[in-house]
Amino acid sequence: MKICTTCVLPETFPGITFDDQGRCSYCSKHDKTEKRDNQRDRFYAKFQEILQRLKGKDPYDALLAYSGGKDSTYTLKLLKETYGLKLLAITVDHGFVSPKAVKNIQNVTGRLDIDHCAFRPGTDTLRTLFSRSMVMDVYPIKALERASAICNSCMNLVKSLLIKISIEMRVPMIFYGWSPGQAPLRSSVFKTNAAMLRKMQEAVSVSFEKLIGDRLSAYLLKDHHFKTDPSRESDRFPYIIHPLAFLDYSEETILDAVGTLGWIPPEDTGSNSSNCLLNDFAIEMHIKQHRFHPYAFEIAGLVREGCMTRSEGLERLSSRPDAAHLDYIKKKLEAGAESRSFCKGAGK
Ligand SMILES: [Zn+2]
Repeated sequence: MKICTTCVLPETFPGITFDDQGRCSYCSKHDKTEKRDNQRDRFYAKFQEILQRLKGKDPYDALLAYSGGKDSTYTLKLLKETYGLKLLAITVDHGFVSPKAVKNIQNVTGRLDIDHCAFRPGTDTLRTLFSRSMVMDVYPIKALERASAICNSCMNLVKSLLIKISIEMRVPMIFYGWSPGQAPLRSSVFKTNAAMLRKMQEAVSVSFEKLIGDRLSAYLLKDHHFKTDPSRESDRFPYIIHPLAFLDYSEETILDAVGTLGWIPPEDTGSNSSNCLLNDFAIEMHIKQHRFHPYAFEIAGLVREGCMTRSEGLERLSSRPDAAHLDYIKKKLEAGAESRSFCKGAGK
């Protein structure tokens, strides 16, 4: 298999081409370091300006999508300790959170004195959603370049819920702990508006409708959410911010920092997640269907940004979970009555 000589993207990645030196088209398009540094400074300045304008105006300054993984834990620590924000951390428990990650969430929110709220849709609803996500063709290849179908379903649920809560509870900012490989720098700070949110929500609603009917409609935005609120000074639509895209990012620093909060790395979540038991299974299914690793895009980004060496990236992508773990997850997914028939042939 041909792999880019600069990053880690393979020849099976959609739309990829290589130059004479074996460098991929994504690396060729990547901006020079100096330009990236300038962009990073610009986004940091924008972030500071928004904090100055919005901090302290509402009961909560911001929501954080809190999975309990190392990156969102680090983001939580930064926002609370460095930037002094009043936060509401929100976890969507998708039924496959590692018990150690649950303990980490309790330790960290306790130590940092953070308000925290967890949502857990019904077990059968979730199992059906994930099982069908793997076999029904509901996501465009652009979405699957960056994450498995299971991750897409889970993230759509999280994103919709956070926007809904931010509008209903009047919280002006939403933060995500995406790594610099997951979040493009150019969209690391942006203001949402009614038209943008409606478009996003329509896409989510269409895929959820196919996958699960209306069983998750409580998590989605309704018509009234898109109306402006005349009692608000500006409007009611939140900023969405991915701070790790423009702040310094190093796995070593992050693990040290979250360790001081009692965060312990779970051993049951595979090499690409620090909270999710389902991830390895989702990865195996994705590789089988699409012939590239669903984390290749993120890891290629981290390698290009200098946050990871190429050999570390290649090693991360080549590690495979053990069969017993995959079998355990497959059985857990199959345990949902309605999902059983959708799991046939999965994870073998
Ligand atoms: Zn490349």
